[in-house]
Amino acid sequence: MPPKSDEKAAATSAMQGGSAFLIGGLIVYALSQWFAFSTRIDPDNIAIFWPPAGVMLVLLALTPRSRFWWMTAGLAFVTFASNALAGRPPDLNLLFVVNDMAVGLTGAWLYRTWIEKGHPVSSVGKLGRFLLIVLVSAFLSATIGSAIVSYMFDTNIASVWYRWFGAMALGMLVVVPFFVKFANDHHIAPLWKVDLEFSALLLGQVLLLATAHFIDSLSLPLRLGAAILIVPLLLWVAARRSAFEASLFLSVATCVRVYALSKGWGPLDFELLPDGVSWVMAISAIQCGAVLLIAANHSEQKSAERSRNMEAARMKSAIDASNDGIVSANEKGIIETFSPSAERLFGYRSSEVIGKNLKILMPENYANEHDGYMDRHLRTGEKRIIGIGRLVTGKRKDSSEFPMELSVGEAFSEGRHVFTGFIRDVSERQKTEQRLHELQDEVLHVSRLNAMGELASSLAHELNQPLTAIRNYTQAATILFKDDKSRDKLPEILIKTSEQAARAGDIIKRLRSFVTARQVERSPQRVSQLIEESCALALIGAREDGINTRQQHGKDLPDMFVDRVQIQQILVNLIRNAVDAVRGAPVREIIVRSKATEDHVIIEVLDTGSGIAEAEEKNLFKPFVTTKAAGMGIGLSLSRGIAEAHGGTLTYERNPAGGAIFALSLPIGAPANDGTNPVD
Ligand code: ADP
Repeated sequence: MPPKSDEKAAATSAMQGGSAFLIGGLIVYALSQWFAFSTRIDPDNIAIFWPPAGVMLVLLALTPRSRFWWMTAGLAFVTFASNALAGRPPDLNLLFVVNDMAVGLTGAWLYRTWIEKGHPVSSVGKLGRFLLIVLVSAFLSATIGSAIVSYMFDTNIASVWYRWFGAMALGMLVVVPFFVKFANDHHIAPLWKVDLEFSALLLGQVLLLATAHFIDSLSLPLRLGAAILIVPLLLWVAARRSAFEASLFLSVATCVRVYALSKGWGPLDFELLPDGVSWVMAISAIQCGAVLLIAANHSEQKSAERSRNMEAARMKSAIDASNDGIVSANEKGIIETFSPSAERLFGYRSSEVIGKNLKILMPENYANEHDGYMDRHLRTGEKRIIGIGRLVTGKRKDSSEFPMELSVGEAFSEGRHVFTGFIRDVSERQKTEQRLHELQDEVLHVSRLNAMGELASSLAHELNQPLTAIRNYTQAATILFKDDKSRDKLPEILIKTSEQAARAGDIIKRLRSFVTARQVERSPQRVSQLIEESCALALIGAREDGINTRQQHGKDLPDMFVDRVQIQQILVNLIRNAVDAVRGAPVREIIVRSKATEDHVIIEVLDTGSGIAEAEEKNLFKPFVTTKAAGMGIGLSLSRGIAEAHGGTLTYERNPAGGAIFALSLPIGAPANDGTNPVD
């Protein structure tokens, strides 16, 4: 179908919908007028329940703007016709129509402004506004109406006012909640499920009504009891079923009560009661208020529950779809949720880990400290990982370990803490990054060597000058030494020689600083984090080779003021050397441990590898000394340079258990000299 006819069809259907609402609404209004006029009660022939007020309010409040004036005119006409049929003289009739329409329009305007869309019983707040609209409308209608009546018939204005007010208020309270729902949805389904409780209450009610009607000797309290027996049923529907069912019931119950009363049926007999009308109105008003309040509260709870369920479903879909593993735990570290991607990462099924401590996802050394971290965080609010993403090591179900990026979020609800961890496996990424770093290092090194090659010729030239000079001076010195007369010139010649040697030294120094120059960027660093990240980076693939690694950290390590990248360079270099050393060894163990002395932090890397031959020990930290086929032999020399630039040391000692121990010692706190050249 082309879009034009589509639009046309939609417009036609909207028009038909609008017309159906207009015509259907006016028919319902006419019926309500008939009901109201036919249930007026003697002695003064005034209604105690005026449903047309409620029907008119809904129709004017909900009619689309395009049909609004048609609806207003239709309602005015039906009102006039009903009053005429009831035998009212035209002048009084006209005044009543004007009063009804003015009140109806005011109520509808208030309704459109305060309630807008939705249902007046959908929340306690909306019910409050609805009650206010009812009171204002009923007050206006009763005041103008009773003034007209007392002016024309010279009756007591007060007695007319309160009956009028009550009838209008009840008419709106009873009809509007049900009729709004009906007018919005155009159908009554779903009504209610008939179950045992419901049937029993209904049956009891009918039996009591019948008994009260047929047994004249029933005492007054029993009759009153029978009259309000419907109230528990209504309250029960309001509390357990929907607001719609409660308001539908309320409408039916009130119509039945008023109709029965007007026909002299049922337990309430005006002759028995001193002020029967007031009783009926009071009972109806209390019943109405209680039912609507409970129904509003119930719908509010239901909609809160719906939005909670919706929120939970939304969260679940986000968790299920996330590529990152998501694990949440309570303040005791007990796992509460474990997403499908976390299942893939760790190899556990969620049912295996929910209810267990988070520690099963961590390597032992970290797991032992985890409770302490959590305790400290809960006590002091200190954040070590919350809100900060960091690289840590995770442990799979098969006990293999992997580097993972972890960020933790924290939430509080009803005095409880919930921690949610987002986990990304970075082994692959790290491998690539590490390869990149290696390539970068190589390229950098090679290009430096090239540059050095280029420099070599000019250096040779530059160095040649002081060296030639030194040679000449020393030759001259030898000759002078033999000659007694000239011997006193020797000191001068030696000073010159030493000057030339210093010049040569300067040239070499400049070359070294060229090879290693880099800007130092110091900042406070947590020791354990530095170590953890370096281990995660350096130990890739180590576990697959059967190498066992452990971390042991001293308690209360202070932060260090260092260049993070440079210190990690040292640690990665030491750990990778250790990995290389233990690879072929019978016991393959690496320990990275840290401790603090009064003014230093000491980080040691111990391995059970081949160790270092005595002859090599003295050259260990010299550049370009290597025993590896692909080694460069500059790692240790650069590392020592960096350590010294930080005011620290890097030393080697033999591991009594076999293998090597490298100890990096760094001063705590910011050094006075913030050097920019680590190897100078
Ligand atoms: P590279 O690793 O490129 O050879 P390094 O300066 O880091 O350069 O190391 C220099 C040499 O020191 C290595 O080739 C190796 O022989 C020796 N070495 C370093 N660490 C260890 C260790 N933990 N165990 C045994 N030998 C080691």
